Amino acid sequence: MTATDSTTASAQTNASAETEDEFRARCQAFLADNATGLVFEQPDPRGANELEACKVFQQQVADAGLAGVTYPVAFGGLGLPKSYDRIWREEYAKHHDMTGQLTISHGMCVPMLAEYGSDEQKAAYLADAIAGRTVWCQMFSEPGAGSDVASLQTKAELDGDEWTLNGQKVWTTLAHVSDYGIIVARTNPDAPKHAGISMFIVDIGAPGVEIRAINQIDGGKHFNEVFFTDVRLPKNALMGELNAGWRLATAMLMYERVAIGTGSSSGIKTPTSDFLIKTARQHDKLGDRVTRQELMKIYSEETAKSLVSLRTRAELKAGNTPGPGGSLGKLHGAKIARMSRLLMMNLAGPAGAAWDPAAADGDRLANSTLRSFSANIAGGTDEIQKNIIGDRVLGLPRDISVDRDVPFKELRVGTQN
Ligand SMILES: Cc1cc2nc3c(=O)[nH]c(=O)nc-3n(C[C@H](O)[C@H](O)[C@H](O)COP(=O)(O)OP(=O)(O)OC[C@H]3O[C@@H](n4cnc5c(N)ncnc54)[C@H](O)[C@@H]3O)c2cc1C
Repeated sequence: MTATDSTTASAQTNASAETEDEFRARCQAFLADNATGLVFEQPDPRGANELEACKVFQQQVADAGLAGVTYPVAFGGLGLPKSYDRIWREEYAKHHDMTGQLTISHGMCVPMLAEYGSDEQKAAYLADAIAGRTVWCQMFSEPGAGSDVASLQTKAELDGDEWTLNGQKVWTTLAHVSDYGIIVARTNPDAPKHAGISMFIVDIGAPGVEIRAINQIDGGKHFNEVFFTDVRLPKNALMGELNAGWRLATAMLMYERVAIGTGSSSGIKTPTSDFLIKTARQHDKLGDRVTRQELMKIYSEETAKSLVSLRTRAELKAGNTPGPGGSLGKLHGAKIARMSRLLMMNLAGPAGAAWDPAAADGDRLANSTLRSFSANIAGGTDEIQKNIIGDRVLGLPRDISVDRDVPFKELRVGTQN
């Protein structure tokens, strides 16, 4: 056991003996000292410096015995009831977000490992992931399979005691700085498209994994194309049952929508309107009536979104995997992004879309305008969220699907003709 491990273990033991009030006091003291804003080197087009700062903070959370509140002690968590997790989130919401770059790792991959990983996988990976010592990414989208991710063509074939993985993923956020990925691959092309998919854990450092950066409109390079050529995976890299990957993929997408739309914190937060009010003040437009009206609309939307998020969190507290309601927060966030983009362009003029190359990343107003477009796409497009809300929340008739029962190998999807 390392010194860090023993500090964390004793903090975990202390946490289990605490009342909720004592736990809250400890969260407050820790956050007041440590959640003082991320400090990292600029510029950071690949997001590596910011991620490193997030990892340092997360390790501090773990050392203080506050990480992985509800996960079992045996796998690096605190083993506390969900009410303690809510306390952590409530207190965290009062401070700077220190873990934004760990959203995929902690908001999606860690919950999936904890819920669907085997005990062997949890023992191998969870403690390091909870403490931010390892970072995980999501490998779902392919050039021919985005909204319709079940059309994926990356394939995994069992060869003796190992799987061989071949294919390509795209838009893989932070793959270049991740240690592991959760990937979905085709394991039975004779079955209909949803029935022949399995989920695996892939070591990003494995031979045959090639990562290429994608250039973004805002000058960043946070996501990637990832190619797999005869990548060997151990047999136990399979998560869940063979060919049951679609159920797991759906669960992970629900976690994704909650992570994007609800965030990691709890309580009412209005970061977009706060930022826009500051920008309006800087541009001497806070007294302008039309600007004030638009600011008020965005503030109201953000407040309503926080309240819906609180309800989603309460539902999570009651069950395990989040339901389709997560799509509401995701769609709401995309609407706020669209509204704020228009206001930002009106406030900042050309600086809302262009920047001085010498300026530090954080000083670019254009960043928020240009990045806002991704809110309508990442984690599933607006149209897909509306489809989900239509048939799974409102009970409207399902989208027409003519290929549901056809063997995958007979479909004309991606590069398959
Ligand atoms: C910032 C960002 C980060 C991302 N990170 C990751 C990541 O880490 N891992 C990962 O796997 N993926 C990631 N993605 C990919 C993302 O999940 C996909 O871009 C998204 O699912 C849409 O797929 P697509 O781009 O192939 O568009 P398409 O599916 O080709 O959609 C094109 C258009 O058709 C519409 N459309 C498609 N099907 C329907 C339908 N049935 N009904 C109505 N309209 C429809 C869509 O709404 C869209 O307007 C990321 C994307 C972004 C923008």
